[in-house]
Amino acid sequence: MSVHLDEKVAPIYQEVLARNPGETEFHQAVREVLESLGPVLSKYPEFRDSKVIERICEPERQIIFRVPWLDDQNRIQVNRAFRVEFSSVLGPYKGGMRFHPSVYLGIIKFLGFEQIFKNSLTGLPIGGGKGGSDFDPKGKSDAEVMRFCQSFMTELYRHLGEHTDVPAGDIGVGARELGYMFGQYKRITNRYESGVLTGKGLNWGGSLVRKEATGYGATFFAQEMLKARGDSLEGKTCVVSGSGNVAIYTIEKVHQFGGKVVACSDSNGVIFHEKGIDLDLLKQLKEVERRRVKDYASYHKDAIFTENGNIWEIPCQVAFPSATQNEVNGKDAAKLVKNGCIAVSEGANMPTTPEGVEIFLEAKIAYGPAKAANAGGVATSALEMQQNASRDSWDFEYTEKRLQDIMMKIHRSAAETAEEFGTPGNLVNGANIAGFIRVAKAMLAMGVI
Ligand code: GLU
Repeated sequence: MSVHLDEKVAPIYQEVLARNPGETEFHQAVREVLESLGPVLSKYPEFRDSKVIERICEPERQIIFRVPWLDDQNRIQVNRAFRVEFSSVLGPYKGGMRFHPSVYLGIIKFLGFEQIFKNSLTGLPIGGGKGGSDFDPKGKSDAEVMRFCQSFMTELYRHLGEHTDVPAGDIGVGARELGYMFGQYKRITNRYESGVLTGKGLNWGGSLVRKEATGYGATFFAQEMLKARGDSLEGKTCVVSGSGNVAIYTIEKVHQFGGKVVACSDSNGVIFHEKGIDLDLLKQLKEVERRRVKDYASYHKDAIFTENGNIWEIPCQVAFPSATQNEVNGKDAAKLVKNGCIAVSEGANMPTTPEGVEIFLEAKIAYGPAKAANAGGVATSALEMQQNASRDSWDFEYTEKRLQDIMMKIHRSAAETAEEFGTPGNLVNGANIAGFIRVAKAMLAMGVI
């Protein structure tokens, strides 16, 4: 990594490395934020004196627990689960839970750390946290998923509460898993506490637009970045990696804006469909039948499936990395730029490696980093909490308008902050700094906590 760390923050980073050995994704997320903060400490020496960064890098609380459950053959299975409660100066800990075999403490800490600044950028009263487990929902029966979720919540419930910690979904956790968890929480506590989880089903306290929000938000963000350059998504060829919740609703919104998404993917490979992805089919395969994108090609003879293909080799003008962390490396970023990509809006969390980020910034394309571009999901979770608190539910148009306003404000705040700190157009700096300052000021106000 060649970006220079300011001498004021370099020792803090060294300390993070020493205190958190082996947690490479966490190191990466911390470094990326610290790279932006040198000028902030010069402008606000009080942040340095009161060790705001040192405190932010240490989670307020970390919970690691065993999740034992019985599979369909009545065998005992054991998973490990986490909830990292990172920062509660702006509101209750808020952030999703990820179920994926790759999950370990380093992944949950990177996600929780990012979540602090992302949530701050939304301007809403939510702190930062993240959770999850190395449980793999792939190939499990509904009954197995239910038993796992019930066992998971049997430990986690004591740490949650609408004013304490409010989880939601992430990779591998959707409406089904949240339903099982909410049911178990309600049963153990004997409280119908809607505000304790977000991403709930629409008939039991969920919010319209929550399901669509991360993808719609990343698309609104792309539209804002392009607007700032006198352009728009209309007529643009786009590529969206992944085929989960984020990818599906990115494709939907890009198509509504007159762009054309020609490719999506999953961990087995890439689907290229020059005519544009058939969204109804993709939804049926992924949301209803829980199948793989490979099967898409058997319904459309003109679509091409490439096993283990690299989606970033497909020429596009706008790219939406919406699968997982570090899915775009330096080579991929260079290829995208070379092929004429003018904008990247990140739907996944930290999908671009540091080398890739540097290439996008040097090429001066419109680059929307995850903590700004994908904040629409958690922002709409906060709107769900508002509806729960007032025992109300809003209609789709109103909720979507609120989401769009929030995304426009996040873009404006990142762009203005980048400008203010001498790096116009660099939304990485803008998002990191704007997100950080709100948290830091709240920490100063609350004393040594
Ligand atoms: N998992 C999502 C994220 O990365 C959403 C979190 C939430 O809604 O609390 O921001």
